Amino acid sequence: MIEVRNVTKSYRSGAGNVDVLRGVTCEFVEGSCSFILGPSGSGKSTLLYLLGALDLPTSGEIVFGGRSLGKLSAGQQNLFRRHEVGFVFQSFNLLKNLDALNNTLVPFIAEGCTPELRRRAGELLDRVGLQNRWHHRPSQLSGGEQQRVAIARAVLKQPRVILADEPTGELDSDSGRVVFELLRELQQEQGATVITVTHDDRYLRDTDQILRLENGRLSTKT
Ligand code: ADP
Ligand code: MG
Repeated sequence: MIEVRNVTKSYRSGAGNVDVLRGVTCEFVEGSCSFILGPSGSGKSTLLYLLGALDLPTSGEIVFGGRSLGKLSAGQQNLFRRHEVGFVFQSFNLLKNLDALNNTLVPFIAEGCTPELRRRAGELLDRVGLQNRWHHRPSQLSGGEQQRVAIARAVLKQPRVILADEPTGELDSDSGRVVFELLRELQQEQGATVITVTHDDRYLRDTDQILRLENGRLSTKT
């Protein structure tokens, strides 16, 4: 269970404080699939970064499986991000000099890739439909294929939560549908909690929770 308790986030800028999140309270049941919708600038990415401990709230707290993220030491936060969270970004964030297989293994490069990890990475690429693309570099892959590599990379560490920020923002609608279906299937197979930010509301039928952010505040829909 992930609990967001009265979270605010303000950024200090030259012109004063910008209040991006203005008291957000919600929860994400373990193993569920949620979408966060809302117009551009409403604070969606900010909330997702806080959920992944890439940044901390100005006030309020985020409690992940009983641990308040803000109370973890810097080292514990780092371990949390590395082992428990899988990120998928709009712009894929693949390394252009590595092939699909090695991009999938990037989170493990520092620790060393065991043969078992390489085997699982290949299995995951097959699983996301890239069985003939292991040794293609990003420039040799379509946008939808690159995003599937990014998903395989996020899933390889078997994270407890997958955070996806506009994962279909740069994809045509067919590739977008594949990406949503894949996230849903992997969530059901692996039991991860999946939280997806999108303003693509075409694929929202099969989901547990839809949250709508507007101007830093949340209104719950269904
Ligand atoms: P969304 O993802 O819904 O489009 P964001 O969470 O990215 O919205 O941003 C919400 C608001 O916060 C925007 O007005 C943005 O300019 C501002 N913002 C985001 N990050 C920063 C930052 N690091 N410093 C200052 N302002 C920021
Ligand atoms: Mg955003």
